Amino acid sequence: MDFSLSPRLGELKERAVDLARKIKEYEDECEARNGLSAQSRDALRQTVLASGLQAMNAPVEWGGAGFGWSEQVVVEEELGTLTNGLWAAVWRPTAAALLACTPEQRERYLIPENRGERFGARAITEPDAGSDPRRIATVARRTGDGYRISGEKWFVTLGDVADYLLVLAVVQPDAAPTMFLVDKDTPGVRMTATPHYTHNFAYEHPHFVLDEVEVGPEAVLGEVGGGLALVQATFFEERVLVAAHAVGAAERALGLAADWARERVQGGRPIIEHQLIQAMLADSATDIALNRTLVYRLAWEIDQGGDMRTLSAKVAMAKLSATEAAGRVVDRAVQIFGGRGYVRDNPVERLYRDVRVDRIWMGTSEVQRLMIAKEIDKRGLPGLLRFPVAYGTEGATGTDVPDALGGSGEALLEGAGR
Ligand SMILES: Cc1cc2nc3c(=O)[nH]c(=O)nc-3n(C[C@H](O)[C@H](O)[C@H](O)COP(=O)(O)OP(=O)(O)OC[C@H]3O[C@@H](n4cnc5c(N)ncnc54)[C@H](O)[C@@H]3O)c2cc1C
Repeated sequence: MDFSLSPRLGELKERAVDLARKIKEYEDECEARNGLSAQSRDALRQTVLASGLQAMNAPVEWGGAGFGWSEQVVVEEELGTLTNGLWAAVWRPTAAALLACTPEQRERYLIPENRGERFGARAITEPDAGSDPRRIATVARRTGDGYRISGEKWFVTLGDVADYLLVLAVVQPDAAPTMFLVDKDTPGVRMTATPHYTHNFAYEHPHFVLDEVEVGPEAVLGEVGGGLALVQATFFEERVLVAAHAVGAAERALGLAADWARERVQGGRPIIEHQLIQAMLADSATDIALNRTLVYRLAWEIDQGGDMRTLSAKVAMAKLSATEAAGRVVDRAVQIFGGRGYVRDNPVERLYRDVRVDRIWMGTSEVQRLMIAKEIDKRGLPGLLRFPVAYGTEGATGTDVPDALGGSGEALLEGAGR
């Protein structure tokens, strides 16, 4: 077994470190104004384009970087060190769009998104449908060959800056959950609220109402009735990224706390010499080492391919473990800083607020546990716990997203969000 980073991954790591260093310059602005000015957003876009790390998950022929999962994780982990959700400035298209776009939709949405010219935001959650997206009440009624969509969507990350929404709605009278691509300037699409959240994030997470929004048949993403599979494919990808971000966030917090512990003198010596502080540092380093190993191994396994149901449960394990660990690590880092850890200009304080949502969005920790338990029940422990036998030398890459995500994504539905 070889756990070293290949030269390629090492080079990507360096590029990601360099990009994260440049984006960190926007952290204070983002915290102070709960977002970025249009000028900063534009400057950031140029910085990201120059890095070549945008659209990592999209095929090169569609203007993406075409990275495999290990490559993406190496980069995303580094982006996870950024406070205020600034990792979101390094855009990537939604997996659902990658999976299901028609050539026309690709030209209209995906390729401009890969270039950083148009952005999509996912509108799945509703007041009465969170962990269980099957409960959505948004309906799309057939009108000739098109649809009229009505409903309410909550917590739409990037909704303020997005050009279009990926809307999950139930096509009636067929009761078929379906994903639609809806331009935000379509009559009837209204942003109704912009709540304030625990974190001060690079973008908003507004609520929307869709009031009798007329769209043509070309707005359907994938197949009528295929919406939940696309949602789960998106969760699969996003959960890997959330896990990678969590590892990066935890390491930054621990690094800052360790430096402070060496510097700060109380009780006649640097606090790092107090055993209670040492225990916090040691537990945090152990949390990070364990979860980095888990997340990297997971990315490697997805690159090899395999049973998507088992891989989905493993993704759930990594998301659960890494985000819970990041919560512990960042909490200890605040404690090590004492009162200074509670001040908002300390990145540790911001990370403390930032990582909390990682246990909620893209499926709560409870939902991840349900998925893992279901896998144990259905297929047993070996697939979850043992190292796989090598499947061959030709692993999947980011350009093989449809395969890597299990074809239609149907396999991902089992046990997810339930
Ligand atoms: C900042 C932020 C950004 C977001 N961005 C987006 C976005 O871009 N697009 C989008 O569509 N959504 C987004 N969301 C919504 C997010 O995905 C949901 O909040 C999440 O899925 C949980 O749903 P809920 O909030 O309705 O909680 P609920 O589903 O109501 O859950 C409440 C509690 O019950 C638990 N629970 C639920 N079901 C079960 C069960 N079967 N067994 C045991 N416990 C259970 C949950 O774990 C949780 O503890 C965002 C949320 C936040 C906070």
